Amino acid sequence: MRSLLITGGSGFIGGNFVHYWTQKYPADHVVVLDALTYAGNLATLGKLCEEGRACFVHGDITDVGLVQNIFEQHGVDTVVHFAAETHVDRSIVDSSAFVRTNVLGTQVLLDAARRSWFVDGNWRDSVRFHHISTDEVYGALGPTDPPFTELTPYSPSSPYAASKAGADHLVRAYAHTYGLPITISNCSNNYGPYQFPEKLVPLMIVNALHGRALPIYGDGLQIRDWLHVEDHCVAIDRIIHANVTGETFNIGGRSEHRNIDIVRMICALIDARFADDTFLSTRFPRCPAARGVSTATLMTHVADRPGHDRRYAIDPSRIAKKLAFEPTQTLATGLRHTVDWYLAQDGWWTAVLDGSYRSVSD
Ligand code: NAD
Repeated sequence: MRSLLITGGSGFIGGNFVHYWTQKYPADHVVVLDALTYAGNLATLGKLCEEGRACFVHGDITDVGLVQNIFEQHGVDTVVHFAAETHVDRSIVDSSAFVRTNVLGTQVLLDAARRSWFVDGNWRDSVRFHHISTDEVYGALGPTDPPFTELTPYSPSSPYAASKAGADHLVRAYAHTYGLPITISNCSNNYGPYQFPEKLVPLMIVNALHGRALPIYGDGLQIRDWLHVEDHCVAIDRIIHANVTGETFNIGGRSEHRNIDIVRMICALIDARFADDTFLSTRFPRCPAARGVSTATLMTHVADRPGHDRRYAIDPSRIAKKLAFEPTQTLATGLRHTVDWYLAQDGWWTAVLDGSYRSVSD
């Protein structure tokens, strides 16, 4: 039985991971540490804490005393570190929170793990610090460049990517200097349930349902690799359970697509759902599909993001060969599932947008 500390477990990927892990490994002890920034949402955890399947601690990963207490009180032996400031646009406006949480917060967690796990000159058995990172640390690719491998040199472009790169370097430095048992995964763009509606996929779905413009940055020809969040959770599980201490794995969906095509696919899925289910027109009357008009008529080109990377692509062959990981969702199945989730769970995202989920007592 493991005792996991999951940081950022009320955010998008962390929340999905808490659901995944508590369902698959119900005997494990799970502590979620989350500051509930604008991107964190207690409702994402549903009844897991009430039912005693996870413990929630409302706090900041930069709080040295709090983090150390959690390690001691809960006998943490596994850290899965998701907590981060994650939105590139916000990092361009002000990068201070990115450096604080992503770099300093990671260092605080690494130190707490080192203090707790290195006892009488030896590392405790079966401990692991798994750090969640991004493909954005590698920078941008040209149209014909080969995809990123684990050996691609770091070349981050945005303040967000630079802060994640800084965190990755610290994690490796703690392994090299102190012998901390770490693993790192660098993943491509995730989509799926519980994603805050500022990122491309949920923003487009929620705007479409409100009949608002669907903003496409620049020409919309930026290419990303897309992975359904549940596949990401499976990949992390494989890494944590494998004997791969010190290693890095790139995780991707073998699914490169242009942003504009992602938006077109979402519009087509919404149109098809409204055509199948006339009740949706009553629930979302401002969506063009409610009047039989194509949702794609909302697509609007806007000024591009400064320094917008043109292409990211992941070579996932290492995790495929070594840990037999392959994604189960294609973009078509995953996006359909995601659109259906947002259509069914408007209570979740309307609460997120109006901030009412913030009424938290801890
Ligand atoms: P998110 O923004 O949805 O969630 C981040 C969570 O961290 C929130 O719950 C927030 O409240 C919490 N948090 C922020 N600052 C904190 C602090 N100082 N202390 C404690 N908690 C804090 O992010 P996400 O999209 O779920 O990303 C999770 C991780 O995965 C991040 O490390 C991100 O870099 C990485 N990642 C994300 C993607 C993606 O497509 N979303 C892709 C690759 C890697």
